[in-house]
Amino acid sequence: MYTGTCLCGTVRYEVAGPFAMMANCHCSMCRKHHGAMFSTFVSAPDTGFRWVSGQDNIETYPSSENGRRPFCRTCGSVTPMLLPAMNLVLIPAGNLQDDPGLKPQMHMFAGSRAPWYPITDGLPQHPGYPPQFGGGMGIDRPHFPQIPGVTHGSCLCGAVAWELAGKPERMQNCHCSRCRRARSAAHATNAFYLREQLTWLQGESEVKRYSLPGAKHFGQDFCGRCGSSVPRVVSSGRAVVPCGSLDTDPGARPLGNIFATSRASWFEITDGLPQWETYPARA
Ligand SMILES: [Zn+2]
Ligand SMILES: [Zn+2]
Ligand SMILES: [Zn+2]
Repeated sequence: MYTGTCLCGTVRYEVAGPFAMMANCHCSMCRKHHGAMFSTFVSAPDTGFRWVSGQDNIETYPSSENGRRPFCRTCGSVTPMLLPAMNLVLIPAGNLQDDPGLKPQMHMFAGSRAPWYPITDGLPQHPGYPPQFGGGMGIDRPHFPQIPGVTHGSCLCGAVAWELAGKPERMQNCHCSRCRRARSAAHATNAFYLREQLTWLQGESEVKRYSLPGAKHFGQDFCGRCGSSVPRVVSSGRAVVPCGSLDTDPGARPLGNIFATSRASWFEITDGLPQWETYPARA
């Protein structure tokens, strides 16, 4: 039996497995909904799936005619997606507390990949769905013009949008268990800006803030309508920006991997960038 939980612990579930498929998805909807550079889902028969708690705390955003994007309304973590017509459940691997016993088998919607996060492993890359699910060429996303010196970001439903002036201080991948649960993904990729660089264009009143009890800064700010991670202004005067939600190229790339030894057992770091056990030493 495998267990999963959202960041705040309200939504909990159990799944018996066995897990058949594990895939990374780079579509723009997954990137925005998770606030990560890609999602990773495992599939299992729905007969072995059971909610332990918090099912009534799940909000669902209808992302398309047939697509439903569920999330915890307290913390913004992505929650499992039940597909009764296929007798399947899709579970965001970042929220599993146990090793699912398999590793990602492919990249889906690699045609929608963000330029600021290259794919560096040797797994097969499908531009859209893999051939067994109908193939395709990826999802067209709304086009935002690349304006020099300005980076645009928005949530999946479009209610919340913001702009960032200039380049971030740094961008990095974080593999800590909190980030993995918050983003329901293999790892977070965050860019750090000064709060003065951030301008909300619309929807700031839609933003919900979850702060993890006992943590100094850690939490998740997300759109209350669709659950997408959005920038979080912390007490140090920085804005922590989830890079999966950006619409235009921030002109920066991840510098390295922090909390690398906390990484998910099923995820291999192949980017060749520096890895730090916690944070890089301050110069
Ligand atoms: Zn939660
Ligand atoms: Zn996707
Ligand atoms: Zn939204």
